[in-house]
Amino acid sequence: MPSLTHDQQTLPWMSASSAKVEQQLVAKYGETERARMQRGLQQVAEFWRAEDGDAAIFEQFTLANFAGDDATRNTMFTRIQRLLEQLNGHMHEINREFRQQADLDSGPVLPFDQLFAGYDPQAHIVDDFFNNKLAFVVLLNFPLTTLQERLAQGPNWSRQQWAEARLAQSFSKRIPASVNLDVARASSEADSYISQYNIWMHHVRAPDGQRLFPPKLRLLSHWNLRDEIKADYSDPQNGLARQRAIQQVMERIITQTIPAVVVDNPAVDWNPWTNEIKLSTENDGLGNAQFGNVTNAPEPNTRYAMLLKTFTASKEVDPYSPTAPTLIARRFDEDREIPEQRVRQMLEPVVTSPLLPQVAALIQSRLGRPLEPFDIWYDGFRSRGAYTEAQLDVIVSKKYPTAEAFKEDIPNILIKFGFTPQKAQYLADNIIVDPARGSGHAMGASMRSAKAHLRTRVESTGMNYKGFNIAIHEMGHNIEQTFSLNNIDYTLLEGVPNTAFTEALAMVLQGHDLEVLGLAAPNAHAETLKTLNDFWNTYEISGVALVDMDVWHWMYAHPSATPEQLRDATVQIAKNIWNQYYAPILGKKDVVLLAVYSHMIDSFMYLPDYPIGHLIAFQVEQQMKRAGAIGPEFERMATMGHVTPDMWMIHATGKPVGSEALLTATEQALSNLHASH
Ligand SMILES: [Zn+2]
Repeated sequence: MPSLTHDQQTLPWMSASSAKVEQQLVAKYGETERARMQRGLQQVAEFWRAEDGDAAIFEQFTLANFAGDDATRNTMFTRIQRLLEQLNGHMHEINREFRQQADLDSGPVLPFDQLFAGYDPQAHIVDDFFNNKLAFVVLLNFPLTTLQERLAQGPNWSRQQWAEARLAQSFSKRIPASVNLDVARASSEADSYISQYNIWMHHVRAPDGQRLFPPKLRLLSHWNLRDEIKADYSDPQNGLARQRAIQQVMERIITQTIPAVVVDNPAVDWNPWTNEIKLSTENDGLGNAQFGNVTNAPEPNTRYAMLLKTFTASKEVDPYSPTAPTLIARRFDEDREIPEQRVRQMLEPVVTSPLLPQVAALIQSRLGRPLEPFDIWYDGFRSRGAYTEAQLDVIVSKKYPTAEAFKEDIPNILIKFGFTPQKAQYLADNIIVDPARGSGHAMGASMRSAKAHLRTRVESTGMNYKGFNIAIHEMGHNIEQTFSLNNIDYTLLEGVPNTAFTEALAMVLQGHDLEVLGLAAPNAHAETLKTLNDFWNTYEISGVALVDMDVWHWMYAHPSATPEQLRDATVQIAKNIWNQYYAPILGKKDVVLLAVYSHMIDSFMYLPDYPIGHLIAFQVEQQMKRAGAIGPEFERMATMGHVTPDMWMIHATGKPVGSEALLTATEQALSNLHASH
């Protein structure tokens, strides 16, 4: 149970009034209900402030609103559940509309659009519910639980008990609306900074002045840059030179030595090694070009100023969150419901695995050269190594010239994933496809009468392979969102345990994207390679997550740091993690690449969800293999809802969350490979 919030004073009349009410309630409903009354009254007392009313109001309110028998309590539960679905659902629809100009590729974003995007209509709800006392109705009748209680007792609860626990949790904090609004504003600002951070690659020049990339190629940091590194493995001619150039670009972004003028600007040519810039003679993106004062003055640590804003806003929440008084605690104990220590214990066996040198040696022999730092994104284990990115682009753009063409094909895609035609149509009917401004994302609904939205980036020349690969991932989110809202027993249990699970389910589909194109016939060798690919990806993203975690710990230890200090600390943290876990495998020391992820800047320590997601994805994928088809297993898993991660995973696969499945399979994959040679 939460302790007192900081600005809450014990009201002098509270304990006498509580005792008086308890006595009257016992007289009315009987001794058997006493424990429930005590808990409810205590929960109300903890959040009650002087402005909520005096002793008389408190007594009158609690006497009138305690549900003294099961029938009344059930009626209360059912009605509240229905009305909260309506409230959350409609508020979410408003939010989606208000963000539309910022999220969709529909012309320039004007300053006022950002204000709409930053507005969170839900910011006031909890506050309003305390003011009108609906929150107190819930707190009086449904128990608040700690993570420890949910972990220990949750497996024995009924589904309704779980739904009741989630209901009470919505009122476990009383955060002022102004604080919530600050968080939303910082988030939106960082988001906007990230979503426009494009590099025009035709203007990135090699040390010898050569243009390595084709005209008009605009890559969004860091996703498109990283994916270009991956794609370059299938280009024996220019691939290596391009990968080295992208590494330089990434390092300049992280250290903020990137000239400010090259960000999203095709008017300037740039040598990322020497940092020399000059006005470009090539006009491949004039619509976006900004001429004018061409100097190579570095970006003024904007990257870290943005991150600091999200930290400062998060810190404002701390005093109102007594059971999880830092963003770090809220992320692990509340959002993930896996303690931070346990997450570190899950990642440690991956980043220190004795299998790493073996896999690294394998990559080295496949590449025929010593490993370089960007090889943390080695992608040659995938069977699509057989196709160049360009070949895949041709196939995809022919199949999907427009977002509409992709939308129309969704039922067919889903049938290929093993859904029945009926189920495929049902899902397709619940997904709306929109053109994304960024690289793509999925936005679910929050009430059953609304639909999920799939945002995908389609260039004027048609969908390219990257866009398609992301679209399949986002569609995976939409399917999970649809099942876990529309096909679940209690809407209060809507969703999955945490975002790592939705990522896991999305990645399972994304991992089969080539099959949708009719390209890959899965065989034992491809499976072996896929396992090695999963292992290498998990290794890479585990380091990224550890950097994110350490950076947040650093910010909490240095709450008044400047952007410049945060930059230096981040660079040092990235080097430390690299030197500990990556330098021994990849050779070079003091590499900063692990700090390139854009989500580190705009997503409030979201990155640890990725490696957890890989582990979970692996467990889930193994289960789907055992079951045969993806579709029905996907549905079975996605309708379990928002319980603890281990409970969900035990229901899905029979085992709790962990790295064991991945490591065992990697060992097996390596021995398969040796046996076949
Ligand atoms: Zn995702």
